[in-house]
Amino acid sequence: MSFFGGSPIFSGSIEVVCGPMFSGKTEELIRRVKRAQIARQKVQIFKPAIDNRYHETEVVSHSSLSIEATPVNSSVEILQKVFDSTRVVAIDEVQFFDENITVVVEKLARRGVRVIMAGLDQDFKGVPFGPMASLLAIADSVDKIHAICTLCGAPATKTFRKNPKNSEQVLVGETDLYEARCRSHADFFGEDQDQLAFFVNLNSASDKSQNL
Ligand SMILES: [Zn+2]
Repeated sequence: MSFFGGSPIFSGSIEVVCGPMFSGKTEELIRRVKRAQIARQKVQIFKPAIDNRYHETEVVSHSSLSIEATPVNSSVEILQKVFDSTRVVAIDEVQFFDENITVVVEKLARRGVRVIMAGLDQDFKGVPFGPMASLLAIADSVDKIHAICTLCGAPATKTFRKNPKNSEQVLVGETDLYEARCRSHADFFGEDQDQLAFFVNLNSASDKSQNL
């Protein structure tokens, strides 16, 4: 460890664990937190107040591992609640936070805090969820983990909403509402509505006209 003016310099970092529902993100977050606690590092765990599926003040994984967590209503509230002595900050369901979360975690890392976050990288339409795209970009380490497709057993990277008629991005639920799916079994819009496919067709059509 290096020392400056007699105080140890801690190196901060930003870690993201992402993937679809049922991939074990929260379990991985809890595993990292428990290892830090074994090393006697002071850890604080936060979660958005919106996620009360299992417990108001605990982070609970699908396999019922759990750990105490502080529910917060905004990302700035995390900054207000982190103690000077805290070495590790863990944030679960980070996709539900506002865009300021990127500023908050950068500030914490600059102070020497190790920040570990877990969240859904995509919503049920396959679009980057809330602040996740920005968080993945600024992270020092990213682990994208897979679930298992409920239809074919292939690695699943998508969260499929069983009733897509309800188009709200945030609809907190469990296996009653969602399934993990592989790319080919999570075709959200079909080829007809795929804008990229439309442009590819358009370009290949204009190529043909040049050849005439
Ligand atoms: Zn599949």
